[in-house]
Amino acid sequence: MSQHFDYICIGGGSGGIASANRAAMRGAKVALIEAAHLGGTCVNVGCVPKKVMWHGAQIAEAIKLYAPDYGFDVELKDFNWQKLVESREAYIGRIHQGYNKYLASNGVTVINGFAKFVDNKTVEVNGEHYSADHILVAVGGRPTIPNIPGAEYGIDSNGFFELNEQPKRVAVVGAGYIAVEIAGVLNSLGTETHLFVRRHAPLRSFDGMLVDTLVEVMKKEGPTLHTECSPKEVVKEADGSLTLHFENGHSQNVDQVIWAIGRTPTTDAINIAAAGVEVTESGYVKVDEYQNTTAQGVYAVGDIIEGGIELTPVAVKAGRILSERLFNDELPNDMKMDYSLVPTVVFSHPPIGTIGLSEEQAIAEHGEENIKVYTSNFAAMYTAVTQHRQPCAMKLVCLGKEEKIIGLHGIGFAVDEMIQGFAVAMKMGATKADFDAVVAIHPTGSEEFVTM
Ligand code: FAD
Ligand code: NDP
Repeated sequence: MSQHFDYICIGGGSGGIASANRAAMRGAKVALIEAAHLGGTCVNVGCVPKKVMWHGAQIAEAIKLYAPDYGFDVELKDFNWQKLVESREAYIGRIHQGYNKYLASNGVTVINGFAKFVDNKTVEVNGEHYSADHILVAVGGRPTIPNIPGAEYGIDSNGFFELNEQPKRVAVVGAGYIAVEIAGVLNSLGTETHLFVRRHAPLRSFDGMLVDTLVEVMKKEGPTLHTECSPKEVVKEADGSLTLHFENGHSQNVDQVIWAIGRTPTTDAINIAAAGVEVTESGYVKVDEYQNTTAQGVYAVGDIIEGGIELTPVAVKAGRILSERLFNDELPNDMKMDYSLVPTVVFSHPPIGTIGLSEEQAIAEHGEENIKVYTSNFAAMYTAVTQHRQPCAMKLVCLGKEEKIIGLHGIGFAVDEMIQGFAVAMKMGATKADFDAVVAIHPTGSEEFVTM
């Protein structure tokens, strides 16, 4: 006899936990199945440990680059990587406790184990069967490893968070968020860091102004950026070091290679076909705008959905909205996630914040004659009084005569903490005139967005 629930969430990461809690709060009998650690990628090997490392890197930069000109006679004598890792993991441990408590207080049954579908109403975990009227698939992804000889000598972002010692010389391969963030952290913490991208620049899909500014800062402050470098082979040398060879003939000897070339959905191991759920060739789950899969009563949110946005708050929101739709009788039953104008930050050095269309995308979509762009470039005040002046660049992309703001982009000191409120304004349809009508806060970086 299988145990029956109203709702089973497979995957205790960002999407699964949020959806399970919300469903239980609406009175559903809910089970959450997690194979590893509660919190999923974000809490254990993603956003949280990454941000802690980034904060550590900010402290190193403050001491090395900025403190002297502020009059502090400090010297960076030692940096204890292990201590930072311990503090980080203790913090993550406290988050696990918090999640367990909150799930328990909502009455969610947490099942530890790896779930596989039996059919669209039943899953099997540790030899037991569990059934439900509704099942959510929120199993997330894993790092992609290139299919080249010696790739196994490298590590991925999960391996980066397992490092107990600071590597001395690292090659980071990839051009997205993870490559840029990990390379930036390692560089600031004092590792000799090489970032290898296979085209002309990292973050190619971002607004050109952001990319150009990031590359300009990298040239001055590191990491060492190598462009047009497609990895070909990794060779383990007799001394244990690794030599990374590229298609263009370039090679680099390092102590550690980190792959950061994207992620693969982990839908290949859950017998998803038994539920009648269709996936793409690369394993992404096909969903409609209500997160319905092709199987009745089976839903998917988060990193595994086709055409989705791989960010924690996106998974969380989609999971919660789905639970409201399924289990809250007081709300309309056509509630759905709005995937437009999702704000996002790259924790690079300096950080990047972006909402909506890049200038390039806006022109391609609406025609150059309908787009007006406002920009501002300055040295962040925090750095302007030091010998390490760092650029800050901002841009508004406006559409049509009314100059509706359809893109907002910034790179520079504290931009990561500036853009959330602007996303609210843009969601409400703000125009350039609305921004102009606001009184600036002085002296801040964010005032530039309302004074262009
Ligand atoms: P996940 O969080 O990956 O959760 C899936 C869970 O399902 C996992 O816990 C897994 O163990 C479990 N699972 C898998 N298969 C099964 C099974 N068969 N049975 C039971 N359990 C199973 N996003 C941001 O918004 N901001 C950031 O700063 C940020 N930084 C990141 C940094 C890194 C290095 C990485 C890798 C990602 C980062 N992300 C960030 C992305 C973010 O972590 C993901 O978008 C988010 O975690 C996706 O949530 P999810 O619920 O889809 O999947
Ligand atoms: P991304 O998809 O962002 O970037 C990977 C990039 O690596 C590709 O765009 C590609 O860039 C390059 N690449 C792909 N294959 C190869 C290859 N074989 N060799 C060399 N380069 C290759 O993946 P990430 O792993 O960086 O991150 C996954 C997702 O996680 C992100 O998209 C983001 O949504 C999320 N995330 C969010 C963060 C945040 O919010 N701050 C932080 C970290 C992750 P190109 O085509 O230019 O070569």
